[in-house]
Amino acid sequence: MPYDSKILVAGPCSAENEKQVFESAQALASLHPIFRAGVWKPRTSPLSFQGAGKEALVWLKRVKQELHMDIATEVATAEHIHLALEAGVDYLWIGARTAANPIQVQELADTLRHSAIVPKGVFIKNPVNEDVGLWQGDIERLQQAGMHVMAIHRGCNHRPCWAMSFELRRRMPQLVMLLDPSHMSGDASMVPTLCQQAMDLNYDGLMVESHLHPSDALSDAHQQITPAQLADIITHLEMRHPSTPDTELLALRQQIDETDDELWQLIAHRMTISKAIGQYKKEHQLPILQTDRYDAILRKRIDWAQSKGLSEELVRAVFEIIHKESVEAQL
Ligand code: PEP
Ligand code: MN
Repeated sequence: MPYDSKILVAGPCSAENEKQVFESAQALASLHPIFRAGVWKPRTSPLSFQGAGKEALVWLKRVKQELHMDIATEVATAEHIHLALEAGVDYLWIGARTAANPIQVQELADTLRHSAIVPKGVFIKNPVNEDVGLWQGDIERLQQAGMHVMAIHRGCNHRPCWAMSFELRRRMPQLVMLLDPSHMSGDASMVPTLCQQAMDLNYDGLMVESHLHPSDALSDAHQQITPAQLADIITHLEMRHPSTPDTELLALRQQIDETDDELWQLIAHRMTISKAIGQYKKEHQLPILQTDRYDAILRKRIDWAQSKGLSEELVRAVFEIIHKESVEAQL
C-alpha cells in the first residue's frame, strides 16, 4: 500500500454505543489506523448529542484489547485526561475550540506534565480563529510539558486555511502535521480530493472521520465516509517523493526569483509614487482616501485579471494590502 509511511487516524466522529465503536474499528482494522472516536463532544448547541461520556472509554478499551489497535480521543479538561489515560487511550487530541483558549491549553499541558501515564502523542488541531501564533503557542505549551506533539490542520469555517498551515510549517519545519479533510470541508464528497491534496502538499498523514452508516451518525453526519470509502481513497492516493531538485526545476525557480525581483521593484516604485501623491494631497488639502478612485482602479484590475485567468480573490487580497500600505504611507 502506497500510504505506508504516513499516519492514519480514522474512526467515527463520536463513540455512540459499544456495537458501533467495535464494528467501526473492525471495519477499519485492515488500514491499520490509530482508531479515533469522540467521547466528550464540544458541540455548538446544548441540544445536540454531547458524546456518551466516560462510559465510552470502556468501548474504546475493548477495541484496544481485542483488535490490538491504538486508540485516540479528544480531551478538553484535566478530568478527561485522567480518565482517558487510565483507560489506556494511546493518543489524545485537543479540538479546535479548546485550541483557541491558551489558558485551557496550559492547564491541559500542566496536567500532562504531572501525569504518571504519558500518552504516545498529543494531536493539536488549529484553533477555530485563524491565528497561527496561537496554534504555535499551543504546540509549544505541550512540547514544554514533554509531549510528542503533532498538529492537525482542520481548516477554518469549512475551508482550508492553507496560508496558516504553510506558515506554521515554515516556523516549525520538524513538526509532524496531519490534515483533517472531514472537519475542513464538512462535506463527505470533498474528502477524497482533500486527502489527495494533503499528499501533494507532503502532509505526514490524515485524520478522517469514518462511520458505518454516515447518515445515521449522531454528530457530523454530512462529513463522514464509510470504512469502505476510506479504504478506496487510501489505496488510490498518488504519493509524491521528496527528492533533490533537478536542473529543470532549478531553472523554473530561477525564473520565479527573477520575476519576484521585478515584482518587488515595481511595488517599491509604486510606493514612491504613492508618497509623492500623498505630499501633493497634503499641500492641496485634499483627503487621502478617495473611495471613488479606489473602487474604479480595483474594478478595472478585477476585469483585466480575470481575462488573464487570475481569480478575483487574489486581485482583491493583493490590492487591498497594497492600497492599505499606500494610504498609511500618506497619513
Ligand atoms: C473532532 O475531531 O471530532 C472535532 C470535534 O474536531 P474539531 O475540533 O476540529 O472541530
Ligand atoms: Mn466531528
